Amino acid sequence: MNPFDDLLAGRPLTRAGFLTLLQGRKQESVRLRQEAGARARAVFGSKVYLRALLEISSYCKRNCYYCGLRCDNAQARRYRLTKDEILSRAKFAYDLGFRTVVLQGGEDPALTDAFLTDLLSELRPLVPDAAITLSLGERSPSSYEALYAAGARRYLLRHETRDPEHYQRLHPKAQRIESRLECLRTLKTIGYQTGAGMMVGSPGQTLAHLALDLAFLQELRPEMVGIGPFIAHPQTPLADYANGSLDLTLDLIAITRLLLPYALIPSTTAVATLDEAARFSALQAGANVLMPNASYEEHKADYNIYPGKKAQALEGTDSLEALEAALTRIGVHSSMERGDYHDHV
Ligand code: SAH
Ligand code: SF4
Repeated sequence: MNPFDDLLAGRPLTRAGFLTLLQGRKQESVRLRQEAGARARAVFGSKVYLRALLEISSYCKRNCYYCGLRCDNAQARRYRLTKDEILSRAKFAYDLGFRTVVLQGGEDPALTDAFLTDLLSELRPLVPDAAITLSLGERSPSSYEALYAAGARRYLLRHETRDPEHYQRLHPKAQRIESRLECLRTLKTIGYQTGAGMMVGSPGQTLAHLALDLAFLQELRPEMVGIGPFIAHPQTPLADYANGSLDLTLDLIAITRLLLPYALIPSTTAVATLDEAARFSALQAGANVLMPNASYEEHKADYNIYPGKKAQALEGTDSLEALEAALTRIGVHSSMERGDYHDHV
C-alpha cells in the first residue's frame, strides 16, 4: 500500500510513511490538494469560518529566534491594549457578526491571570454567544484553568517543530519543546479546543522533521492546526535565511486535512504574505478558516511578527462583502457561526 492511499482511506501512517508521502508529494500534489479540498467540502459544506483576530500586545518576554516580537529586538515598537480597548474592539467584531473572537499576543508579563480573568468576566457577557479563543503562549496549568473557568474555550499554541534538536535551533535554551508539549497536553486535558501547528521551511528543517510533525498531529489530534511558511524577519538572528516554500505549505495543509478531517485549519496570514492569491489556494487545498485582522489600525504595523504581513483586512462591512465576493469565485462562502470542533458534523 502506498502512504497516499493509506491517508485517503484514513489508515494511520508511520513516521516513515509520512516521509515517503512528503518525498513523493510533487507528483501527487494536484490530486492531494483536490482530495483535501473535497474532504473539507464533504465535512463542512461550502462554509469557511471567519474568526476576528485581535492582537492585544506586542510585548514579549520570550526570544524565539524567528519572531520580530522577541524581547531582544530593541527596534520593535511595543504597544499593549487596555482592557477597555480590547472590550470595545471585540464588541465591534461581534456587532459585525463574528461569533469567534481570538485574542493573540506576545508573552507579555502584564497579561497576568488577574488582568485576563477580569477581562474575560466582562468580555463573556458582552459577546454572549461567541467563542473566545486565546493565543498568548505558554502559561502554567493553573493559569490555563483559570482562563477556562473565566470563559475561554479555545487556545492556539503551535508546537512549531516536534523535533527537539530542531526546536533548539529556533529557540534559546530556556525554551524547551518539553514545556510546549506539556502545555498542549494540559490545554487538551482541561477541555480547550486546542490548536497545534508548525512553521514550514524554518532554518534547518528537513522533510524528516515535517514527517515527525505529521506523526505528532496524528497522535495529538488537535482540534485546530495552524500551518504557515517561515518568513525571515530582518531584526532577528534568522534574518538571512530563505522563506519557507508556499507549495510545501499548501501540501502540508492538504495532508493535515486528510489526516484530521474535522479539524479547523486556517488559511494563515503567512501564506497570504508570500502570495495574496494563495490565501484562496489554501482554502481549496483543505483549509476552512480565515482570521481577518480586527486590531486597531494604528497598532497593526507594530504587531510585526514577520515583515510584510498581509492579513485579511477588516475595516467594516465593506471588507466582509469584498471577501464574500472573492470566496464566491472559488465556490465557497463565509460563515460567522462559532464553528466549534465536532467529530461528526
Ligand atoms: N506569542 C504567541 C502568539 C503569537 S506568535 C505564541 O508564540 O504562540 C503566533 C505564531 O506566529 C507563532 O506560533 C509562530 O508560528 C508564528 N511566527 C512567528 N514568527 C514567524 C515568522 N518569522 N515566520 C512565520 N511565522 C512566524
Ligand atoms: Fe513571543 Fe510568540 Fe514571538 Fe515567540 S513567537 S517571540 S512567544 S510573540
